Amino acid sequence: MRPSILYPLFSSIDSLKGVGTKTQKLIGNLCGQKVVDALFHFPYNIIDRTYTSPLSKAINNKIWTGVVSITKHVPPQTSKHPYRIYCSDGTTELVLVFFKVYKDSIVKNYPIGERRAISGKIEYFNGMWQMTHPDFVVPENRINDILTKEPIYPLTAGTTNKMISKILRDALSRIPNLPEWLDAGGLKDLNNVSFKDALKSVHFPQKESDLSPNSIARRRLAYDEILSNQLALAFIRQKSKQQQGRSFKGTGTLYQKIISSLPFELTKSQMEVLEEIKQDQEMNYRMLRLVQGDVGSGKTVVALLSMVKVIEDGVQAALMAPTEILAKQHYETITSLTQNTDIKVALLTGKLKAKQKKEIYENLALGKIDILIGTHALFADNVEFKDLGFVVIDEQHRFGVQQRLSLSSKGKKCDVLVMTATPIPRSLLLTAYGDMDYSKITELPKGRKPSKTVVMNINKIPEVITALERKISEGARAYWVCPLVEESEKQDLFAATKRFEVLEEYFGDKVALIHGKMKEDEKDAVMDEFKQGKKSLLVATTVIEVGVNIPEATIMIIEHAERFGLAQLHQLRGRIKRGFEEGVCMLMYSYPISNISKERLNVMKQTEDGFYIAEKDLELRGGGEILGTRQSGFTSFKIADMEYHQDLLIKARDDAKNILKTDPKLETKRGEALKVLLYLFEQNEAVKTYLAG
Ligand code: ADP
Ligand code: MG
Repeated sequence: MRPSILYPLFSSIDSLKGVGTKTQKLIGNLCGQKVVDALFHFPYNIIDRTYTSPLSKAINNKIWTGVVSITKHVPPQTSKHPYRIYCSDGTTELVLVFFKVYKDSIVKNYPIGERRAISGKIEYFNGMWQMTHPDFVVPENRINDILTKEPIYPLTAGTTNKMISKILRDALSRIPNLPEWLDAGGLKDLNNVSFKDALKSVHFPQKESDLSPNSIARRRLAYDEILSNQLALAFIRQKSKQQQGRSFKGTGTLYQKIISSLPFELTKSQMEVLEEIKQDQEMNYRMLRLVQGDVGSGKTVVALLSMVKVIEDGVQAALMAPTEILAKQHYETITSLTQNTDIKVALLTGKLKAKQKKEIYENLALGKIDILIGTHALFADNVEFKDLGFVVIDEQHRFGVQQRLSLSSKGKKCDVLVMTATPIPRSLLLTAYGDMDYSKITELPKGRKPSKTVVMNINKIPEVITALERKISEGARAYWVCPLVEESEKQDLFAATKRFEVLEEYFGDKVALIHGKMKEDEKDAVMDEFKQGKKSLLVATTVIEVGVNIPEATIMIIEHAERFGLAQLHQLRGRIKRGFEEGVCMLMYSYPISNISKERLNVMKQTEDGFYIAEKDLELRGGGEILGTRQSGFTSFKIADMEYHQDLLIKARDDAKNILKTDPKLETKRGEALKVLLYLFEQNEAVKTYLAG
C-alpha cells in the first residue's frame, strides 16, 4: 500500500487550482494525470522579467517590465485595425497594441488614469515604443505577482505557460515533508538539498545554469529517481540469486542431432555464449542472463540450443516474443531446425480458436509439448505447464521493469534467458537490468555482405523513386520507413498514409502500408504478403517489427532519418541485413539539420557495429534531442538523463547494493524512508513482490 504521506502527490491533477475538465485532459496528455506528474514536468527556459524601468532605457525586441500610467484608449476604426492604449512612465510614452480584444476586459484591465505594472516584449516602431499584447498586467501594488524569472515549460497544443505555472504553484504548495532516504554521506554529496527543496527550486530557476541537468536541484532529484530504479532492480536480482534453482545437466543427444543438421556452423561467439548459458543451467540457482546480440547475429539458434538442454532432462521450455508476428516467425524457424528430432513445438497466439487453445493447454499440462512459443499470453493464468524449467524472452527491451518484475514473480523456479538485439551501452544496461549477468554475441555469421548506407537530402525523393522502380521491376523488395513525429502516433500515421498514397501512384498494388493502429492480424496479413513477395514495397511507421526476418528485402529508405535515435536506425537497418545479398539503406534528411544530427547520420554511414553506434548515440545525443535511448525504450526515466548522470548511476548502484546488504527488508528508519522513495517513483511492484509481509 502506498504510504499515506504520498497521497497529496498521487491525487488527480483535477484537485489542483486552475484545472477543469478540459484542462485536465490537456495537462494529462502533456505530463500525466497525477500531481506528482505535474511536479516532474520541468521548465526548460527562463524569461527575465526583472523590473527594468525607465522606458527610455528599454532595449528593442526584449522583455520590458515596469510601471506605467494609462492615459487614453483608442478603439479601432475598423475591424482590421488594432485597439491601442497609450500610457507613459512619466517621461516616455508607450503604446499597447491589441488585436481581437474583448472591450469589457480591456477597459477593466487598463483603467484610464491608473497605474499598472506590465511585462512583455517591447519594440521600437515609428519612433515610439510599443508592446503587442502584454504578457502580464497587474495593479502596481501587485507587481510581485509578475515573477522576475518566469519559468518556461514545454507545452502542447491547447496549453499555455500561464496555465502550467498556475497549476504548478498549487502543486508545489502540496509537497509533503518526506522522510530523508539518503544517508548523511549521500546527502552531503548532493549538496544537502532535500527532495522537497530540490523540487521547489527546479520550478523557480533563477539563472540559465539552474536549468541544466547538472544543477544541484536536478541532480538531487535525478539521484532519487535512479536510486529507486537501482533498488528495485537489486531486489529482483537478489531474489533470483537467492532462489533455489534447478540444475539441468542434459544428455547432449538432441543437442548434437540439431547441431549436425544445421545448415551452417555456429560462430565462435555463439558457441561462447552457449557455454556461458550452459554453466548457468548446470548451477542450482536461478539463472537470469541477458544475451545481447546485434541484429542477425543468430540469437534464435542460441535460444533453441539452450532450450534443448532442459528438454533433454524431460523439462519444458517457453519462448516469449513481444508480438505475434515474431512469435510466429520463431515458431517457423524452430520447427524447421528441430524437424529431425521428436521435439514437440507449439505456437500459442491470440488468434487460435478456443478448441485449438484447449488442445494446447491439455498437451502442455500432460507434458506433450516441449517448447511453447507465444507472446505474453504464455503467462496467462490458465496456461499450465507440466514442468516448465526454462523461459526465453526475446527482444526484451520492449518490456518495462514492471513487466519484468511480474514475470519473474510468476516464474516457477525457472531459468530465464533474456535476448535483446538492441546494443545497450553499459550504463543503460545497469538502469534497465541492474547488475544482471550478461553475454554478448559479438560476431556476425560469416559471409554476410555489409550493407551500404547512403545519407541524402529528402528533396532527392523523386530520384529515389525512379531507382526503386527499376529495382522492384527486377524483383527487389524494399521497406519505406516514415518519420516519427513528436511522440504523436496520429501524426506518424498521417505521414505514412500520405507517403503510401504517393507511392501507390508509382507502384500500384505492389505497395502495402503497415502501422501501429492496425490490428495484430491485419499487420500479420500485410507482413505475410510482403514475405511471400505479393507486395514489393512496404510503407511503415517504426512500429514494424525489428526482429522480422525477410531475407529477400534488401532495400530500406528511411525518411527524416535525423529524427530517429541511432540505436533505432541501426535496428531498422538490421532488417535488410538478414539475407546474404548486399543491402542498401538510404537515410533521408531534411533541413534544418543540426551538426550533431549530421554527425550522427555519418556514424551510421561509417560503421555497422551496433555497440559502437550505441555508445556514440549516447555521446552525441544533444540535450535537446529526445529521441534515441528513451524512444528505443530501455529506460523510462522522467528526470535522470544518462548523458549527464552516469556518475549518479554508479553511485546509486553501490548505494542499492549496500542497502540490500545492511537492511534487506527496509526496516530501519532509512529503510522506511526508502520505501516511500520506491512508491514515489512508482516501483510499487518491487515493494509488493519483495517487501510485502
Ligand atoms: P537475430 O539475432 O537477429 O534474432 P536470427 O536468429 O534471426 O538473428 O538469425 C538470422 C539469420 O542468420 C537466420 O536466417 C539464421 O538461420 C542465420 N544464422 C544464425 N546463425 C548462423 C551462423 N552461425 N552462420 C550462418 N547463418 C546463421
Ligand atoms: Mg531475433
